[in-house]
Amino acid sequence: MEQRRTPGIKGNPKLDETTGVFKAPEGFWVRCPQCHAILQQSFVKLHHQVCAECTHHFRMSSHERIALVCDEGSFREFDADLEAVDFLGFFDSKAYVDRLSSSQKKTRMRDAFVSGEAKISGRAVQVGAFEFSFMGGSMGTIVGEKISRLFERSLEKKQPAIIFQASGGARMQEGLSSLMQMAKTLGVLSKLNAAGVPYVSVLTDPTTGGVAASFALLGDVNVAEPNALVGFAGPRVIAQTINETLPQDFQRSEFLLSHGMIDKIVPRSELRDYLGRILGLLC
Ligand SMILES: [Zn+2]
Repeated sequence: MEQRRTPGIKGNPKLDETTGVFKAPEGFWVRCPQCHAILQQSFVKLHHQVCAECTHHFRMSSHERIALVCDEGSFREFDADLEAVDFLGFFDSKAYVDRLSSSQKKTRMRDAFVSGEAKISGRAVQVGAFEFSFMGGSMGTIVGEKISRLFERSLEKKQPAIIFQASGGARMQEGLSSLMQMAKTLGVLSKLNAAGVPYVSVLTDPTTGGVAASFALLGDVNVAEPNALVGFAGPRVIAQTINETLPQDFQRSEFLLSHGMIDKIVPRSELRDYLGRILGLLC
């Protein structure tokens, strides 16, 4: 059969043999989990991964984050060559080395965190962002090292530190060494605090486990995106442990704000301006 092209669709539409209907290529549409609207992927991307119908915030890549808030062309990456080593020879349903290599191929990153120096509203900052699609943004030795170095550069140059959190917690494939990153990063963060250099933590969906239990909630200002899941253990685990039904918005940004755990909820469209203003007040 002759191939038809649908206007605006890249690649050939695929014919569904049973219905006789041509379907758009995979990845063309996305369904909003909140309002269930079917949205054009490229349109959602253009709007910084926010649903135009209900303002649901989809997850965003670390590089999209940096581009969203930093002055154009100002970002200079550091420590991009640091790469995890499988020192335990860890193997669960899959070998750790294989998990690493498939995440590296998928994200074109060496590990789950990108960091560097940039400007926000003309002010020099040390900025970093978790990459959730790299093994769930888990923190192993490399992520911990990169965060510690970010805080160290921040301290040395007296530039504010900003971290965009998005993590499932410590990386189990690196065992106790992953948990040690909590103490290591906090050691440097305490020096930053003593020197009076500001640190802003931006909590995005999800921020959990060892990251939530260490530097993610220790910012001088802790802001969150709307409806982001933030907590140590997930709500399902807590509900099973205490054998109680939890409030519907439990561990979501709005719940945390109403219980005094965070300072503000900032929609993604306002984040760049908000950070510029808050840095002006803190510095
Ligand atoms: Zn929606």
